Amino acid sequence: MQGKLVLGNWKMNGRLAANLALLQAMLADADINRAGVGIAAPYPYLAQLGAAFAGSQLAVAAQDVSRYAADGAFTGEVSADMLADMGCRYVLIGHSERRQYFAEDDACLRQKLQAAVTAGLVPVYCVGETLQERESGRFAEVVGEQLQALDAISGKEYVVAYEPVWAIGTGRVASIEQIDEAHRLILERVLQCHGASASIRVLYGGSVKADNADAILSLASVGGALVGGASLEVKGFGKICQSA
Ligand code: PGA
Repeated sequence: MQGKLVLGNWKMNGRLAANLALLQAMLADADINRAGVGIAAPYPYLAQLGAAFAGSQLAVAAQDVSRYAADGAFTGEVSADMLADMGCRYVLIGHSERRQYFAEDDACLRQKLQAAVTAGLVPVYCVGETLQERESGRFAEVVGEQLQALDAISGKEYVVAYEPVWAIGTGRVASIEQIDEAHRLILERVLQCHGASASIRVLYGGSVKADNADAILSLASVGGALVGGASLEVKGFGKICQSA
């Protein structure tokens, strides 16, 4: 059976000197420095991560990618080919902050998923409902609609991150029952579409911390974690990796 995957998401944080100290501490931590762990950093720091992780099994990930082609007149964009060239293995696509603040819709996310797969990257497709959608009983419908973007994507490895919007950065973690229910639903849906031959992992994200990681990551339906705030600090992140 494939191991669990823990990805840190630094979001828009970091500076060269602080990153260097953090990366060195991560490399020195045996719970973190192993296969199945990676960090998604802002674009300018991907080269720094690549250099630091060279020779280790740690994976470099990007937080976003252009929906457009490999090269061309798209000022300000970063293509999937460029990310692959920089040594990225994973790329986050459709994080709720992108959907919310940058109006990324399903059509845009389909293109990004296709661009990532074409370039040989593994997309980490983020889905999740808002508090209002959960409270009005629309959770399964909303997540089901978001997952449609994956239907046309053919790959061997699918990583979905289930991140209830109301649990991101709020300290309010979904209950174990809510997580298990959501993960089973997502697994079933992706399996239906892409068959049993593909590798399918569903990561949980949203206020994962050292003290709740054991309970969340011990669920069979949870294929790993996408960790925001707690990935900016070695001790807590190490504990989460140890739980995986
Ligand atoms: P959080 O963020 O762990 O800080 O809640 C998770 C994410 O947004 O990926």
